Amino acid sequence: MIKTVGILGAGQLARMLAQASVPMDLEFIFLDPAEDACAAEYGELICAPWDDEAALRSLAERCDVVTFDFENVPESSASLIESLCPVFPPPRALFKSQDRLREKTMMQELGIPVAPFHPVSSRPELKEAVDKIGLPCVLKTRRFGYDGKGQMVLRFQEDLERAWQALGDHELICEGYVAFDTECSIIAARGQSGQTVYWPLTHNLHRDGILAISTAPAFDESLQAYAEVLVRRLLDHLDYTGVLALELFLKDGELLANEFAPRVHNSGHWTIDGACTSQFQNHLLAICGLPLGETQCKTPALMFNLLGAMPGCAGQSIFDPGTDAAVHWHDYRKTPRDGRKIGHVTVTTDYEAGLQARSALLAAELGVSFELNLEAVMQTRNTRTE
Ligand code: AMP
Repeated sequence: MIKTVGILGAGQLARMLAQASVPMDLEFIFLDPAEDACAAEYGELICAPWDDEAALRSLAERCDVVTFDFENVPESSASLIESLCPVFPPPRALFKSQDRLREKTMMQELGIPVAPFHPVSSRPELKEAVDKIGLPCVLKTRRFGYDGKGQMVLRFQEDLERAWQALGDHELICEGYVAFDTECSIIAARGQSGQTVYWPLTHNLHRDGILAISTAPAFDESLQAYAEVLVRRLLDHLDYTGVLALELFLKDGELLANEFAPRVHNSGHWTIDGACTSQFQNHLLAICGLPLGETQCKTPALMFNLLGAMPGCAGQSIFDPGTDAAVHWHDYRKTPRDGRKIGHVTVTTDYEAGLQARSALLAAELGVSFELNLEAVMQTRNTRTE
């Protein structure tokens, strides 16, 4: 019986895992280099660098199972923990996702469609990659890129030198630019018995490379079934336990995978208030070896990420009592900083038809632009050809 869960990383994902654990009566020990890590109030924080051997040993020896909320944990650290204590998801998934080249190669081998890609480690190789892939294309660092950081879109031949000057110090990957209709993600959980569950495909809108808005449900059954097939290939191949998110581009009714995250994911935060079982609950159930919960939507939901500082209206109910909508605020209690993810807020409505208007109302309160046309998103859902 699992009593103590270790988490590598004590950010908001670890915090929401701990919050979801209440009915399971678990205790948490976090390891994170940041002294003010926001999950710390839910357990004990071992404040140490990711490669501190004594700290890693101490975590592994005191926990029944270890998981992570951060995928750039060094390979050697995850392996050390694994030699002492079960680690879920499997560190192999972590290593694959840490390097975009390894990740894309594996997805391609599994028959998961991806944009064409080419490794780049020298200036001539950049030219070769661009000649092969064509313009526009996207040059990305193979490691440590997140929220659009460490990547540049190349549109003209003149951009090559500029991009090389900016990124050439790193191992790179050049990818075809996908002129997508929309972005979406499928989040799935796989239990230790192989039981696999999927949340509804989520529509994602990014601003400046950072997730701004996630909406579910947003796509039809045939696209859902196709996305489930794709993510299932990853889960089975990796003999996966826990939650995994696969980020996808939708173009002309077809899905192309961008990347996967071997952990709970920002685009699944709506599941806390909108789904029967949240991604955080199912991740804990999976790593504890328990049966997984139902994943269907309780209500249509739309999540706004809150960046920088919590807005003045945080905590307020926004809509008049008796309306068909509710607002759910989540404050990660992080020190405000420009562009930092410090919370999220989810709108749920009884009827899908009300989601657009209610969300626009909340966006106005938040002072953020709401250019999302949910009707147009919904229309993309019937375009897939069998
Ligand atoms: P990533 O760091 O790979 O998740 O990329 C961040 C965002 O950049 C994605 O959500 C897309 O909006 C955009 N992006 C990344 N790769 C591509 C691509 N190959 N084509 C078009 N847009 C991309």
